[in-house]
Amino acid sequence: MRHEGVLRCLHFDKRTVDFAAHMRRNDGDPVALDETARALHAALAVVRGHFLYESGHHGDLWLDLNRLFVDAPRMRGWSAELARRTQGCRAEVVCGPLIGGALLAQFVAGELGAEFVFAERSAPEADGLHYRLPQSLRRSVKARRVLLVDDAVNAGSAWRSTLAELDECGAQLVGLATLVTLGDAARRCAAQRSVPLHALATLEHGLWAPDDCPLCKLGRPLTYESIRD
Ligand SMILES: [Zn+2]
Repeated sequence: MRHEGVLRCLHFDKRTVDFAAHMRRNDGDPVALDETARALHAALAVVRGHFLYESGHHGDLWLDLNRLFVDAPRMRGWSAELARRTQGCRAEVVCGPLIGGALLAQFVAGELGAEFVFAERSAPEADGLHYRLPQSLRRSVKARRVLLVDDAVNAGSAWRSTLAELDECGAQLVGLATLVTLGDAARRCAAQRSVPLHALATLEHGLWAPDDCPLCKLGRPLTYESIRD
């Protein structure tokens, strides 16, 4: 997930809400947060507003993801937990989209003793945004077992684009992993690909097509436009 817009987003709407009220484990239990989820709770700021995501969806939540990476030992701990949970995937290569996904993927690859590659966003094309592996890295994933990692997955546009690129490179996807999912796009993506999804925590939030957005119907102005998701 790319999130350069986060700080500007916070500038527009500094109101944050209690993370715990929106935190869910993968089993949907809002009460029994595990230690890892508690650590995420302490680290993340949840921003409520009316956002236009880069995928074109409207939503009511954004996260300050940049702060997660400041405390490198703490991030290493979360990466180790993700690596522990994804060991069964037997990944040979871990791939993450720049920026946050790649930062996390490199940590996870180190924990797994796997190789690491990243995908970078190409210039906007007629059919939307695309994430591509640098030419010199494409052969590193061909016919290899690849785990795709992102720091957070919202509508999943970066994830799906990177998946399409991995397919084009001949990679064998063996799993998806993330710190936080927002809504159920990540789960649907994993189900479509018949691979396991490993997420340390899930946040519930509203995500709508613009025509169905209740915040638009209420006449609420957009808090921040074109947030990358
Ligand atoms: Zn809207």
